Amino acid sequence: MSARSGSPSRPHKTSNGPVSDAGFVLDVRNLGRRPGTMREVRRTATEHERMGLDLIAIPADAEVDLDLQLQAVSEGVLVTGTVSGPTVGECSRCLEPFEDRVEVRLTELFAYPDSKTEQTTEDAEVYRMEDDLIDLEPVILDAIGLELPLQPLCTPDCAGLCPECGVRMAIAGPDHGHEILDPRWAKLASFATEAPGTGDPAEGSTPQDRSAPGADDARVVSENQEEK
Ligand SMILES: [Zn+2]
Ligand SMILES: [Zn+2]
Repeated sequence: MSARSGSPSRPHKTSNGPVSDAGFVLDVRNLGRRPGTMREVRRTATEHERMGLDLIAIPADAEVDLDLQLQAVSEGVLVTGTVSGPTVGECSRCLEPFEDRVEVRLTELFAYPDSKTEQTTEDAEVYRMEDDLIDLEPVILDAIGLELPLQPLCTPDCAGLCPECGVRMAIAGPDHGHEILDPRWAKLASFATEAPGTGDPAEGSTPQDRSAPGADDARVVSENQEEK
């Protein structure tokens, strides 16, 4: 086979047929090499690892739909079409989990092992076919990584979290807000609730009893003055 058959990146053992033609690996032997020959591939594949970004990805073992056209061209096989699958994400504003779908379009050439393209390009520049197999996984991973948002949102107009208390605005409602009391007003408010007791002349109480509330009043007032 090709000089690359010892390569560690070789996708699968290829000896006989359809065993290798599964998941994201396509066996293109029956496409032939006559330029223009086309074949459609529709299948559902799963990947054991999640595919995507930190906050949003196609979860592991989710069903990914491939709807592809393979076309033989002079230098290799051109793969075009769409790949789609469900995503789970975490909203970057409100931190809630949400589900969605992602669809990517692929247009990728896989060079024949003995083609000019293969011989005149570096490994990283073009994907290569190995033993009549096309491994779409790296292509799909790249495409999904580019398509998914770095800062996903549960809904386009997600209102996020309340900056004061952290409650999710979607549950808190549009009237949610916080009265920020001026500390001086807070002091007056507590003074007012204490006032009626002290201002009420208690009949029959001794002068000693009455002196206590008066002293408290003086202390409160002096505290207020110190704060100003
Ligand atoms: Zn959100
Ligand atoms: Zn709040």
